[in-house]
Amino acid sequence: MRTLGDVAWKNVTASIDKGAVSVLQPPEGVNLKARDRLASIPGVEVRVAVRLASVTTLRIGGPAELFVRVESEAALTDVLTVARETALVLHLHGHGSNVLFPDGGMRGIVCRLRGELEQVEVEGETVRAGAGVTLARLARDTAKQDLLGLEALSGFPSTVGGAVVMNAGCYGTEIRDVLAEVRVARPGRPVETLATADLKPGYRTTSLQGTEAIVTRAEFRLRRGDGASALKRINELNRRRWESLPSGKPNAGSVFRNPEGDFAGRLIEACGLKGASSGGAEISQRHANVIVNRENARAADVLDLMITAHRAVRDRFHVELRPEIVLAGDLADEFWRRAAAPGI
Ligand SMILES: Cc1cc2nc3c(=O)[nH]c(=O)nc-3n(C[C@H](O)[C@H](O)[C@H](O)COP(=O)(O)OP(=O)(O)OC[C@H]3O[C@@H](n4cnc5c(N)ncnc54)[C@H](O)[C@@H]3O)c2cc1C
Repeated sequence: MRTLGDVAWKNVTASIDKGAVSVLQPPEGVNLKARDRLASIPGVEVRVAVRLASVTTLRIGGPAELFVRVESEAALTDVLTVARETALVLHLHGHGSNVLFPDGGMRGIVCRLRGELEQVEVEGETVRAGAGVTLARLARDTAKQDLLGLEALSGFPSTVGGAVVMNAGCYGTEIRDVLAEVRVARPGRPVETLATADLKPGYRTTSLQGTEAIVTRAEFRLRRGDGASALKRINELNRRRWESLPSGKPNAGSVFRNPEGDFAGRLIEACGLKGASSGGAEISQRHANVIVNRENARAADVLDLMITAHRAVRDRFHVELRPEIVLAGDLADEFWRRAAAPGI
């Protein structure tokens, strides 16, 4: 991970993102006061101007003003307090497999969960996992203890927290099927426990999306079974999953949610957009609902393709595709503003 010292934000973005079209150049620079306050919290590590492309599966994104690694719920609560008192926006970062960060980077705090928040405890058929644990590791570790239920969720790159927030799913299983409750931190409130039903989980959605809530831990109810067969199933499902997706090129899985009764990929393909490209990004030849970073793609390239696909499907099928990928910073506003314009 590349980091720079405490030089002005203008210089940081310019030196890290040479060649990027839009970079943030606020005159006031990095918030060093906030950085120092964050660095004084036990269990918190702070870096300045971490290049977000290095922590996302799409390999796209400019620098984060303050990149923070948090080791416990207590430390996270203190980080939320500092964010609020310094008026900095906080983005919780999981595995970075469902997010598009702007080329100009992210002002404020990008926060990752580590330490205690990556630990797993097993008690009978109840499994408690920190939100920073990857689903792949959790599924394998639990299968090895003859605990079943997470196999179908092991084939895509995700943390537990990222999967809970969007009710991720695969092969007919959604995370809500095995989730009992979650612990959630919010600014200015004690950490609280919510039952799965409180999250109102639906297709790739929960009530936590678009809020300031941060999932810190999740409790799963699994069932006893044959761990060896479960591990075999994990390997088989992973093989199928990877065969169905573009391999080799960085991507973030499905770009749009499937509309009711149809598939976003089918609609985009029917518009003749497989293989369409913008800059270094391309609508995958293999799966039209996936955009790949073919070569040095920028967020602007991915956004252009998303808007092209959105308008084409709207104009031809009268279906409004909704992004599944999280458009961070100003990208969501830009997407909806430009998507609303008449087709090209
Ligand atoms: C090759 C590939 C295949 C994929 N296949 C599937 C699939 O089959 N099914 C599927 O559902 N998805 C799939 N995805 C998409 C992605 O893996 C999932 O959406 C995943 O659950 C995102 O988790 P993450 O930890 O990477 O979250 P990130 O991408 O880091 O974040 C996504 C969003 O979740 C928020 N978030 C993350 N952690 C937390 C937390 N602890 N608390 C609060 N908010 C949080 C972030 O702020 C952001 O808004 C695929 C992606 C790839 C690259």
